[in-house]
Amino acid sequence: MDDIRVRPDDGVETDPRGGRAWCPYCADSLEYVWDEVLRIARCPGCGVSTRDFHVKSANGFWNEALKQRFDDGVKRSRRTWIRGEQKMVSQTVLRLPIVPGE
Ligand SMILES: [Zn+2]
Repeated sequence: MDDIRVRPDDGVETDPRGGRAWCPYCADSLEYVWDEVLRIARCPGCGVSTRDFHVKSANGFWNEALKQRFDDGVKRSRRTWIRGEQKMVSQTVLRLPIVPGE
């Protein structure tokens, strides 16, 4: 577990409102995707969720307000996690706009 990069590299951009966060396992800043089934945000690279200890620590998600802002950003992005055949893959799923009143 020594190779986990628990802090973003200097100059790496993370953007909670846009759903971009650091992944300590991919050692990169990535646009997370939303898992509708479990209602969690996941890294598109390795599938780790924001419930992960190191993901929380790297991004300050122990702060519930910040975590909530991030989750909302991922949801708003409409990036959705799809279960593939052998492994999970991520892709953007186009959906119809939500009709007010429905
Ligand atoms: Zn990752």
